[in-house]
Amino acid sequence: MSALRLDGGFTTRFAPAPTGFLHLGHAVNAVWVWGAARAFGGRVLLRIEDHDRGRCRPEYERALLDDLDWLGLVPDVGATEEFRRGPHAHRQSDQSARYEARLAQLESQGLVYPCTCSRADIARQGSVDETEGAELRYPGTCRDAARDPRSTAARRIRSEAGRTERFHDLRLGEQVQDPDAQCGDLLARDRNGHWTYQFAVTVDDLEQGIDVVIRGEDLLASTGRQLRLARLLGRTAMPRFLHHPLVLHPDGRKLSKSAGDTGIRELRKAGRTPAEVLGLAARAAGLQADPDPIDADSLASLFR
Ligand code: GLU
Repeated sequence: MSALRLDGGFTTRFAPAPTGFLHLGHAVNAVWVWGAARAFGGRVLLRIEDHDRGRCRPEYERALLDDLDWLGLVPDVGATEEFRRGPHAHRQSDQSARYEARLAQLESQGLVYPCTCSRADIARQGSVDETEGAELRYPGTCRDAARDPRSTAARRIRSEAGRTERFHDLRLGEQVQDPDAQCGDLLARDRNGHWTYQFAVTVDDLEQGIDVVIRGEDLLASTGRQLRLARLLGRTAMPRFLHHPLVLHPDGRKLSKSAGDTGIRELRKAGRTPAEVLGLAARAAGLQADPDPIDADSLASLFR
């Protein structure tokens, strides 16, 4: 049971990356997303986040579409059948033209520059912040170096130092983040020409009219930079965010690393019904006390 309250008429999204099979962690996210949408009159958009061309595979996408159908989780926008038919407006690998146009928009504001640094270069030059959620901060090596744009596909976006982003997380309350201190100038496209998660997701959330983002706490630290980027892209009404706890394997491993025993396929094979799997997920999500089976059509009850 959650104390969450939302005004109706919003669009939220379920946005898996097809880098593996769906596991209980995805089902937990789905229970939050569909449950909140069904309880408060929102719509669920399905987006396939295959921006990382090296790790995503079409067979994982097909499997996740099948698992969603089996679970009875029906998107209101982006039907699974439409994805199976071919190119789709909500599959990131089909969106290069839209991302190019958004990058050009930032370029015209003088905010974009080519970057020739490798990860190893950045690790050598940068200082690693030890605080939670901290990552490798780009030290700005190529910022004013006027690299030849033909020498690399990589593009970074100038960030503004000392400017914080504040937002109210629907579960965690007030948050303050300093994107420049966290990561420095944001990478929009990497050396292989792949769009980054941060860039693709911000463009998509803007253009697809996503106004409620419900995702795991592992992405909390990304929110400030996504808000900053959205503002640079001209977004005025910002989405609201809810970050829910991540589900860990009982031995503390991240679920994705141990899908052998929490994979939706495995649970299916072991004879669990869709309602049983959603019931397990709802308990793991902290939305019900026991793993009572629950149908996809009844998820709203977890929020009432
Ligand atoms: N594609 C991301 C994932 O599977 C979710 C991104 C997001 O919700 O912003 O973890």
